[in-house]
Amino acid sequence: MTPPNWTVTLVDENIAPAVLPEADLVGITSFTSTINRAYELASAYRDREVPVVMGGIHPTMVPEEARQFADSVVRGEAEALWPQVLQDAERGCLKPIYEGRPERLCDLPHPRRDLFDPGYAWGTLQTSRGCPMDCHFCSVTAFNGRRFRQRPVADVLDELATIPQQNIFFVDDNLLGYGRQAEARAIELFRGMVERGLRKRFACQTSLNFADNPQVLEWAQKAGCKMVFVGLESVSEGSLESMGKSYNLKKGTDQYAACIRRCHAHGIGVIGALIFGSDEDDPGIFKRTLRFIRTSGLDVIQITFATPLPGTRFFERLQREGRLTHTDFPEDWKAYSFSRILFRTRGVSVEDLYRGMVYVKDHLYTPIPFVRRALRTLLETRDLATAAMAYKLNKGYRRGYRETTYFQPYSSMHRKASVRQPAQSLQRCAAPEGAQGSPGECAVDD
Ligand code: SF4
Repeated sequence: MTPPNWTVTLVDENIAPAVLPEADLVGITSFTSTINRAYELASAYRDREVPVVMGGIHPTMVPEEARQFADSVVRGEAEALWPQVLQDAERGCLKPIYEGRPERLCDLPHPRRDLFDPGYAWGTLQTSRGCPMDCHFCSVTAFNGRRFRQRPVADVLDELATIPQQNIFFVDDNLLGYGRQAEARAIELFRGMVERGLRKRFACQTSLNFADNPQVLEWAQKAGCKMVFVGLESVSEGSLESMGKSYNLKKGTDQYAACIRRCHAHGIGVIGALIFGSDEDDPGIFKRTLRFIRTSGLDVIQITFATPLPGTRFFERLQREGRLTHTDFPEDWKAYSFSRILFRTRGVSVEDLYRGMVYVKDHLYTPIPFVRRALRTLLETRDLATAAMAYKLNKGYRRGYRETTYFQPYSSMHRKASVRQPAQSLQRCAAPEGAQGSPGECAVDD
């Protein structure tokens, strides 16, 4: 979207800390948990009198806060506004706020992949935006709107053909969407990948209905689908209801395992996302969740704490009820990383939530269940690439678990590792903020 009289440099802190290049204008995008670093970078440039424009999900949700660190904030989808922002920057009259609107996705240019770091193992692309579901904890609807918009399939295939990586991650919040038309479009996309001989392996995010239509699964498998990320959120219907996860409720939690089995039958593994900490959770949720994970054959498990992101209904409700415990913004946004409890809980105490999370994760990540799950993925999908992908993802989640603030004070895995390595410091980390009681015993018996 940037006219050719501008030279663009992309600085990506996923790769390395930024060495701030000279610039006439700086644009910064950020999620909530990294926004303090984004503000630091913005301040560094503004100290040099370089104008800064911020955008992305967090600045969209709290534009007045972002304005304190930037000359200008672009809210929502920026494509149509960006040429205007550049013209205003050239004339030295940037507006404080630009209001974006949901874009038509049929005439957007492809991203400048030549600017991307070549070291990425996965190529990414987006084929749709928006979600009609409006789950209370999710900021997608507030950012991209409720209307599900899709790019033309031919355009997506053209872009796919320009991506050098064999591994592709479709970043759509829901690659499939809902309804017959959406299924037909997914089939057209997967069939197109096969007919053009693109030979990709891919992963995507979707909902449980991905496993409803055998043709979707068949073409996905032929096109190279290895893994689907599905927001299961909870095995408790009460918790689903309190999260506003209406689609899963309608489907029924008793259908989760059957959906996973149908994916497996097509060589596709399933990453299940689960959340602890909803008001309707009770102390038995940890055992029930672990039982479900063991019996369903879920390949990769992502479990986080309910996190009230700004702009969501969840955040607004907790704020209205005076239950948020981390409100020294922007500093406290650092804690909004999905591994901390940030509000006064109802169904399970803060202490028991940390203990319960550790109870489940210690069971998942100790060596025997860890290896057993990898073998099970291989047996059930009969696909080596899927099993290898699941193993690597689980390793990544295990590493992430070890880096959480609750791992050291609560985990028996940590205590065993410390005993095996007496040379290492046994100094115990402080309990995560908000937790009380002495670390060491698990409140959830096995
Ligand atoms: S969690 Fe998924 S289904 Fe729910 S609103 Fe967000 S993108 Fe839509």
